[in-house]
Amino acid sequence: MADWQNPWQAIRSAFFEPVRYFTDPTERVYLLYLASGLICAIAVFMIARRRDPANTPRSFLAYLFPRRIYLHPSARADYWFFLIDRVLSFLVLPFFVILIPAVARPAYSLLVILFGTPTGPLLAPGLGTNLLITLVAALAVDLALWWIHYLHHRIPVLWEFHKVHHSAEVMTPITAYRMHPVEVILNLNLTALVSGLVFAAFQYLTANSGMVYSVIGVDVVTLLFLLFGFNLRHSHVPMAYPRSISYFLVSPWMHQVHHSCEKRHIDKNMGFIFSIWDWMFGTLYIPARGETFVIGLDSGEAPKFHSVAAMYLRPFRNVLARLGREEKATSSKSS
Ligand SMILES: [Zn+2]
Ligand SMILES: [Zn+2]
Repeated sequence: MADWQNPWQAIRSAFFEPVRYFTDPTERVYLLYLASGLICAIAVFMIARRRDPANTPRSFLAYLFPRRIYLHPSARADYWFFLIDRVLSFLVLPFFVILIPAVARPAYSLLVILFGTPTGPLLAPGLGTNLLITLVAALAVDLALWWIHYLHHRIPVLWEFHKVHHSAEVMTPITAYRMHPVEVILNLNLTALVSGLVFAAFQYLTANSGMVYSVIGVDVVTLLFLLFGFNLRHSHVPMAYPRSISYFLVSPWMHQVHHSCEKRHIDKNMGFIFSIWDWMFGTLYIPARGETFVIGLDSGEAPKFHSVAAMYLRPFRNVLARLGREEKATSSKSS
């Protein structure tokens, strides 16, 4: 994020942001994750060809990079939005997002005030405790993301912003970044809040001796998730997990179903890593093998979002129109 104490340096760094994303392990389009996604796609292609050689393209390249998807106006809008939004996010987001330590430090102080300074670890240090911290932190953040995603689908004003993501009519890995800044800011702040609270709690319980297991700066749960086909969730490659696993983990295909505009799929599969939340709260949908669907918005509004300006501004326009309609309805009822 930008360091505004040196504005020229900040602006210069901002222009390299779109490239940096491909070299940063904490970002979804890190080259290693794209490469592992490619390997998963090869596996899906081989299985599909074995099952139905007549209906599968002969060439892997034709299967993986169809022009009708990668050159679609929806995909082209994604590329432009990625380029511009990465630069703007770098410059502007720091003003709107809290950081994990800003939550963890006061939360830890509060625990000390409430329960006293820990004299020793209440949880024994070691492998077991560290695995517990790693898993609980991942589950807590994932539940928070499920919940905020659920609210984006259920609260009309939030849906107007989340619609930007759902307005994609074809998907490529870059579609993961087709998200309105309002939604991004809510997600980042909630993630920092939950992570900060969990870290403070474990810091207290372990008397500062516990840690989250991380590799290349990413906790191992998220790392495994990103490596096992994450980038295929925004693609046309239907990578599915066995049905029994789909109750616990969101497969790429289950997220593709989340983008479907067919009635039976609306408001389903809102999980990020774990599908247990969808299972628990009744929003799980495990697609049948070979199930087909169209992605986009069921209102037919999707093509109107295929420009950078529309992605930024249309949600505000829609919110104002919605509020205007509600005001009209209230005044006609009272007259
Ligand atoms: Zn959604
Ligand atoms: Zn998505």
